[in-house]
Amino acid sequence: MTSLRLANLIDGRLQAPIDGHWLEIHEPATGEVFAHCPDSQAADVAAAVEAARRAAPGWGHTPPEQRARLLQRLADLIEARLQAFAELESRDSGKPLALARGLDIPRAVSNLRYFAAAATTWGSESHATETGAPDGGAINYTLRQPLGVVGCISPWNLPLYLFTWKIAPALAAGNAVVAKPSEVTPCTAALLGELSIEAGLPPGVLNIVQGRGPAVGQAIVEHPAVKAVSFTGSTATGARIAAAAAPHFKKVSLELGGKNPAIVFADAGLSDADMDTLVRSGFANQGEICLCGSRLLVQRPIYESFRARYLERVRALRVGDPRDASSDLGALVSKPHFDKVMACIAQARAEGGLVLCGGEAVAGPGRCAGGWFVAPTVIEGLPNEAATNQQEIFGPVVTLIPFEDEAEALAIANGTGYGLAASLWTRDLARAHRLSAQLEFGIVWVNCWMLRDLRTPFGGVKQSGVGREGGTEALRFFTEPKNVCIRY
Ligand code: NAD
Repeated sequence: MTSLRLANLIDGRLQAPIDGHWLEIHEPATGEVFAHCPDSQAADVAAAVEAARRAAPGWGHTPPEQRARLLQRLADLIEARLQAFAELESRDSGKPLALARGLDIPRAVSNLRYFAAAATTWGSESHATETGAPDGGAINYTLRQPLGVVGCISPWNLPLYLFTWKIAPALAAGNAVVAKPSEVTPCTAALLGELSIEAGLPPGVLNIVQGRGPAVGQAIVEHPAVKAVSFTGSTATGARIAAAAAPHFKKVSLELGGKNPAIVFADAGLSDADMDTLVRSGFANQGEICLCGSRLLVQRPIYESFRARYLERVRALRVGDPRDASSDLGALVSKPHFDKVMACIAQARAEGGLVLCGGEAVAGPGRCAGGWFVAPTVIEGLPNEAATNQQEIFGPVVTLIPFEDEAEALAIANGTGYGLAASLWTRDLARAHRLSAQLEFGIVWVNCWMLRDLRTPFGGVKQSGVGREGGTEALRFFTEPKNVCIRY
C-alpha cells in the first residue's frame, strides 16, 4: 500500500513543506509507517501567519451568521465522511475504531456545530451608568472584537476532537487561525484542512502547519503577529509556551496534564453500570485521556469487595486490533510512549507496588504483532507520595488507594501537583457538595465521569493549566473586550 502524504494548508492551498522534509507516521497497532507528514519549519509558519494576517480583517467583519454557515458546512462534510475519519483516526492513534466512530469524530462535529451556533447567540454586557447629573448619565457597553491571528496547538490523544475544540471557537469568534496538530497523529487534521477548502472557508482563515513542536509550535508561539495561543498538551510543554509567550504579553490558555482521583465512598451503592463507568474512567482510550481517573481512592469498609468487583471487570477488558469491534483497548500511541508506560510500571514495582492485574506488554494479534499494546494494569500498596501516584502516566494504569474518612480522602485527592478533574461517588449529596467545594480541581463529577456539556467551563488548576475553554469562556478567550462609554 502506498504511504499517505499529508500537506500543510496555507492560504487556502495544500502545500508541501518549504524545506521538503517529511516525518514518518507510524500505525501504533502494527508499528509500521503508513503516512508522511510535513516536517515544517519557521518559514512555513511565517507563510501561514502572513496568509492569516491578510485574511483576518475580512473574516473578523464577516457577519457571525455567515461564519456559522461555513463552520456548519465543514461539520456536514466531516459527518458525511464519519467512517473515513474514524478509520484514519484509529489507524493514526491506535485507539479502537468504535471509539473514534462513537466519540472522537462525532465530538469534532459537535464542536464545530456548537461554536457556530454560540457565535450567533452570545452577547456582551452593557451598564447604564448614573452620573447624578440631572440631564442624564452614560451607557457603557463592551465590544468583543476578534484578536486577529491566533495559534492553536493540540496533542495526540484525542486528535480531531481537541483540534476542533480550539479552532471552532477561534474561527467562530472571527479570528484567523494558524493551527498545529500533534506530529504523532497529524492525519485527521490534514483531512479537515482539505474539507475546509471544499466548505468554502476563505483562503488564509484556517491554516494548518504540520510538524514538530520545537520547530512549528515554538515558531507559532514566538511569532509577534500571533496574538494568543490556545494549547493542550503536557505540563512541561505548557511551561515552555508560557515562558515564550510572556515577553510578548500574549494571551495563553493552557490545558495540561493531570493525576486525577476517583473517590468512592462506602455509601456509593455502585450499580453494575457505575462499575463500568469507573472502569472506563481508568482505561478508556488506553488511559490516554487527560480526564482519566488514574488514582482510585476507595473507603476502607468496602475496599476488599470493591477491589474484587473492579478487578473482575478489568481482567475482562480485551486488548486487541483497534479495527476489531470486540477490542476495548487498542495500542498505545507510539513506541516512546509505550516505553514510558512500561517504565512507569517497572517503577511502581520498584517502589513496592503490588500489580494486581496486567503489568505487562501484550502481543498484538495477526497483523498487529509489531504493535504497542499494554495490558490494563491495576496496582495497590503504594502511598500517595510514591512517584507512581504523583507522576502522570497517561496509560492503562490505575492505582488503588484505601482511605478512612472524608478528611483523608480530601488530603490524598488534593495531594498532587495537578488539578484537572476529580470524580466523587457517594449517595450523600451534602457530602458531595462539601467536598466538591474543597477539591482543588477545575472539574468535579459526582456519580459520573466525563459527562460533558460543551457550555461548561473546562480546564484545570495548579499544574493542570491556566484559563478555561468551553462555552462562552472560549469565545471570551478568543476576543478582546473593549469598553465604550457614551454619555447622553
Ligand atoms: P506535548 O506537550 O508533547 O505536545 C502537545 C503539542 O505541543 C503537540 O502538538 C506538540 O508538537 C506541541 N509542542 C511540543 N513542544 C512545543 C513547543 N516547545 N512549543 C510549542 N508547541 C510544542 O503533549 P502530548 O504528549 O502530545 O499530549 C499528552 C499530554 O497532553 C498529557 O500530558 C495530557 O494530560 C495532556 N492533555 C491535556 C488535556 C487537557 O484538557 N488538560 C487534554 C488532552 C491532553
